[in-house]
Amino acid sequence: MMEDNIFLKNRKKLSLADYMKAQENGRENLGTELPVAVYRLLEYSLRDELTARLGKEEQIDIFRSAGFRAGTYFAEKYLDSSLGLSEFTSQLQKRLEEFKMGVLRIEKFDEETGKMVLTVSEDADCSGLPLLGETVCNYDEGFLAGILTSYTGKPYNATEVNCWATGDRVCRFRADIDE
Ligand SMILES: [Zn+2]
Repeated sequence: MMEDNIFLKNRKKLSLADYMKAQENGRENLGTELPVAVYRLLEYSLRDELTARLGKEEQIDIFRSAGFRAGTYFAEKYLDSSLGLSEFTSQLQKRLEEFKMGVLRIEKFDEETGKMVLTVSEDADCSGLPLLGETVCNYDEGFLAGILTSYTGKPYNATEVNCWATGDRVCRFRADIDE
């Protein structure tokens, strides 16, 4: 019986970091990469399901929060927060390209306010989508906010203002510190 299994009884709750660690050597033959189609299949089926069950507002909120968790993890695992801003952003650009998530550019940065405008081209989430009249990269909003919050220690949010789904060729995000 499953419930009598002593190993299951004593198991601890796994964290995101534990799940991520588990993928490192679990696939001897197939390796660590997957096509973008698989990523989008997961993302857009989940999006549909959450929207159908909870409504669009909740779906967006969940994607943003999940993205924030992922961004926080990503910053801790793959980025060096002790670097100065320009070294940090070039490391971030490099990592996002290595992981084939997109090509990041910092368009504007206001040192006084911390406000930032970032663009991501060839974004894994939305590149090639038809015109939908709304931005769709809510997960990325959270992801970038999580990275910036983790790096600066200040509560960043990020809002996508242009997207393939609004007829643009890059995703553009405004990032700002919450007052
Ligand atoms: Zn987008």
